[in-house]
Amino acid sequence: MVEDRIRKLNSAGLRRPAEYVLYWSQMNRRVEANQALAYAAGLANQLDLPLLFYEGLTCSYPYANDRLHTFILEGVPETQRRLKRLGIGYIFYLRRRAADPNDVLYRLAKRAATVVTDDYPTFVAARHNQSVAGKLDVAFHAVDASCIVPMNRLEKREWAAYTIRPKIHRMLAEYLRPADPVRVRRAFPADEESPWHTPVVEECVPALVASCEIDHSVAPSLAFRGGRAAAESRLEHFLEDGLRRYARENRQPSAHATSGLSPYLHFGMISALEVALAASEQARRHKWIAEEFLEQLIVRRELAFNFARHAEALDSLSILPEWARETLAHHARDRRQPLYTPEQFERAETHDPLWNATQKELLLRGVIHGYYRMYWGKKIIEWSASHQQALDSMIRLHDRYALDGRDPSTYANILWCFGLHDRPWAERPVFGTLRYMSLDGMRRKTDVDAYVREIEYLERTGKDPFRVQ
Ligand SMILES: Cc1cc2nc3c(=O)[nH]c(=O)nc-3n(C[C@H](O)[C@H](O)[C@H](O)COP(=O)(O)OP(=O)(O)OC[C@H]3O[C@@H](n4cnc5c(N)ncnc54)[C@H](O)[C@@H]3O)c2cc1C
Repeated sequence: MVEDRIRKLNSAGLRRPAEYVLYWSQMNRRVEANQALAYAAGLANQLDLPLLFYEGLTCSYPYANDRLHTFILEGVPETQRRLKRLGIGYIFYLRRRAADPNDVLYRLAKRAATVVTDDYPTFVAARHNQSVAGKLDVAFHAVDASCIVPMNRLEKREWAAYTIRPKIHRMLAEYLRPADPVRVRRAFPADEESPWHTPVVEECVPALVASCEIDHSVAPSLAFRGGRAAAESRLEHFLEDGLRRYARENRQPSAHATSGLSPYLHFGMISALEVALAASEQARRHKWIAEEFLEQLIVRRELAFNFARHAEALDSLSILPEWARETLAHHARDRRQPLYTPEQFERAETHDPLWNATQKELLLRGVIHGYYRMYWGKKIIEWSASHQQALDSMIRLHDRYALDGRDPSTYANILWCFGLHDRPWAERPVFGTLRYMSLDGMRRKTDVDAYVREIEYLERTGKDPFRVQ
C-alpha cells in the first residue's frame, strides 16, 4: 500500500487553482517502479491536473566532480524520452555555476497544487526534506521508493541482520509485488518550454560536464555508464551470467559474479524491487537458489536504510554499540605499524599490493568489490593514526570517488568495519575485539593475484573488460 510509504513533511494544504502536480526527483532518477512518481501521478489524476517531473543537478554539493556529474547526466535523455511517452512534463535543471539561480524548486512549487519527493535518509535529500518543508506553502509529501519493505514499517533502530531479518521476511509477501505502472489522465502541455530546462543529448554530456564549476580531476568511471538503459543491461547481464554463480562466487572478486548494480540502486536508476522480482523469477525459471543474493539486496540493504533513518549521526563513532565503543577507547593509543596519512591512502601508496589494488579500483571504477571492500576498510583502521581519522578517511574517499557513496549502505558498512551490526571477536592491538582481516586470509580464500593483475590492466590501458555496454 502506498500509504505505508508516505510521510507528510509540512502542514500546508493543496493549492487551488494550480497548473500541475510536481514530483521532485532527488534520489529516484527513474520512471519505472517508482512509487513516489506513481503517488504524484495519482494525485494529479484526482485533481485533474498534469504531472511535472523535476530533476536538478547542482555544482555546489561537496565533491561534485566529473564522475558523479557524468553518471547522472548520462541518465537524463532516457528519462526524458520515457516521460514524454507517458505525457509527463520534465524539467532537468543543471546549475553549472554557484552564481546561477538556486531556487528553481521554489519557483516551480509556486504553480503546483502539491509537491511530492523521495523519502531518503542520507545526503542532500535528507537535509532538503527537512529544510525545504517549512519554506513551501503547499503540501509536501515524501514517499519511500527506495526500500521494498517501507522504512516506516520498521519503527525502531534494529541492532543487526538477525533482528531485522524475521521482520522483513514476515512483511515481504505484502511488498514484493510489481509496482503499479504510472498513468496520467491529463498530458502535460507539449508546447510548455521552461527557461529552467537544460537540454541533454548523449553526445553533449562531456561538454556539459566540462562547463560546470566542479572538480574536474576525478574522471568518469571506467566501468559504469549512467542511466536507466545501462542499469537494465547490467541487470540482464547479471541474471544471465552472475546469479547462478552468486552464492558460490560472490566472495571471489576476480569471478565477477556479483550484480554491479550498487551505483544504479544508489541513484535510483533501478529499484531494489525490480531487481528482487527479476532475480526471483529467473531463479524460479531455472531452479536456481537466489537466497544469498536476496539477503544482500533486501535484508542487508534495508538494515542500512533502517540504521540511517534512526541513527542520530551517520559519521560518528559515538553511535556504535557499547562493546565497540569501549574496545576502541581501550585501544585508542595502541601503536600503529605501519602508519599512513589520508593522502597516502588516497594515492594507493601502502606496502600492500592487494590494498593498493582495492583503492585503485575505487579510483578507476568508482566501486570496490564487496568482499575486498571489507579488507579495504579494516586496513584503513589498522594503519591510521586514530580510529576517528580512519573513519574520516573512509567517508571522504567514498564521498569523492564512489558512485554508490553517500548511500545508507555506505555509512552502515563503513561503521560495520568498527563493529556496527557485528559482534566481538578475539582481542588484538588497535582493533580490540573488532573483527580483523588479514592478507593471508585473503590469499587463502580468494585469488589475490588475479585481482591485482586485473586492476593493473585497468590502470595501464584505461579500459575495463568488464564494462557492461
Ligand atoms: C567499507 C565498506 C563500504 C561500503 N560502501 C558501500 C557504498 O558506498 N554503497 C553501497 O551500496 N554499498 C557499500 N558497501 C556494501 C557492499 O560492499 C556493496 O553494496 C556491494 O559491494 C555492491 O556491489 P554489487 O552491486 O555488485 O553487490 P551485490 O553483491 O550484487 O549485491 C546486490 C545489492 O545488494 C546490496 N548490498 C550488497 N551488500 C550489501 C551490504 N553489505 N550492505 C548493504 N547493502 C548491500 C547493494 O545494494 C548491492 O548493489 C560497503 C561495504 C563496505 C565493507
